Amino acid sequence: MSQVIVVGAGPAGASLAYLLSRSGINTTLIERRQDFSREFRGEVLMPSGIDALQQMGLNSLLDSIPANPLSTVAVYMNGRLLFSEALPAAAFNNQLPLAVSQPALLEGIVGLADASPHFTFRRGATISKVIVEAGRVCGVNLRREASDESLRADLVIGADGRNSAIRRHLNLEPQHASPPMDIVWCKVPCPEGFQGARAYLGRGHLLIAYHTWDGSLQLGWAILKGTFGELREGGIERWVNEMANHVSEDLATHLRQHSNSAARPFLLDTVSDRVTRWSAPGALLIGDAAHTMSPVAAQGVNIALRDAIVAANRLVPVLSCDAPDPVTLDNALAAIEAERLPEVTAIQNLQDQPPKVVLSRAWWGEPVRQIAGQLLKQPALRSRALPKLSVFPFGVTQVHLNV
Ligand SMILES: Cc1cc2nc3c(=O)[nH]c(=O)nc-3n(C[C@H](O)[C@H](O)[C@H](O)COP(=O)(O)OP(=O)(O)OC[C@H]3O[C@@H](n4cnc5c(N)ncnc54)[C@H](O)[C@@H]3O)c2cc1C
Repeated sequence: MSQVIVVGAGPAGASLAYLLSRSGINTTLIERRQDFSREFRGEVLMPSGIDALQQMGLNSLLDSIPANPLSTVAVYMNGRLLFSEALPAAAFNNQLPLAVSQPALLEGIVGLADASPHFTFRRGATISKVIVEAGRVCGVNLRREASDESLRADLVIGADGRNSAIRRHLNLEPQHASPPMDIVWCKVPCPEGFQGARAYLGRGHLLIAYHTWDGSLQLGWAILKGTFGELREGGIERWVNEMANHVSEDLATHLRQHSNSAARPFLLDTVSDRVTRWSAPGALLIGDAAHTMSPVAAQGVNIALRDAIVAANRLVPVLSCDAPDPVTLDNALAAIEAERLPEVTAIQNLQDQPPKVVLSRAWWGEPVRQIAGQLLKQPALRSRALPKLSVFPFGVTQVHLNV
């Protein structure tokens, strides 16, 4: 049977390795971390991502991991409430966005994959080289606990995230469209009665707060790229106090009370990019390795899961044999990119817009935000904007698992 190596056990790599191995294809999944909680992991699943997991047959897993549905959304401008709304479950196909523990989700997926005799998982191993012979990728060298090993395969899949080593080894260069922001990310205890998610806009700031899967309040504060230096000097307490200046009075009081108990604070460099070609002979990139998603509207995990479905649909028929035909395989790799590119491009283009307005310090920034705020207050105008924004919860294209 064909041999596949998947590098990176994030949502894209773990789910694709699960789908391939359960279809009888010998799959080795390689992950550099021993423990999934050692890496930053986005945690809001949109209905499109939940649907992808359900199509993979992972309903029970999803029901068993720590999760919190985001049932309301409230938007504030300069600390004042613009609107607060319960998300209509019916409009979301009875599937509200969910904040989930991604480490628990990934452990669950690799645990289920492990039931297949065709699945091998190498934790704590990194790629030191991609083996290329006669212009074709045919394996990798990996390093684990100071020992080196060569693994050969018919196909190497790079699902190793935004700093993909596979992408670098194959010289598949990304085109950058980085949003002009970074994110200060931390958790504080959740205030009593806080529900769903809130977005605080105004004065060139954006702060997102949501009640997350472990019961705490996750804060993501978008700041203009390059302005973190000023903040860092004062330490975590100063960040949290500075955040408090941009939110409503109830949350500001809470943040000031808990400024010394912020958990796991760190700065995330925000990137949005896309490689111009997702494959080379014998190798494929998926997920953030092919197209790093910005955090706007919580898209990356969902897109990564949908990449895995399309890749499995195209790869299983070609790899269900002892020696796949190289030309047929490379055509399948090109077809995966062709099928996924319209959705990825459309979502990245939409994600690029809000930071330009929300964070702008240009003279026109505040007047434009004030006008947008007045428009957002009108329920009729909000519902007219909804169809355009529905790609965020539901995706752009139809993605159906058929293997
Ligand atoms: C601030 C922020 C918030 C976000 N929030 C959300 C959100 O709420 N919802 C959402 O959908 N998306 C969110 N995202 C985006 C999301 O995290 C990513 O798009 C998504 O994780 C991509 O999945 P992936 O499987 O392609 O890559 P990753 O999740 O990055 O997984 C890659 C895996 O590869 C491993 N790896 C890396 N290099 C190697 C190597 N050389 N050898 C072996 N293993 C390797 C890594 O350890 C990792 O496990 C957010 C992003 C940011 C920056």
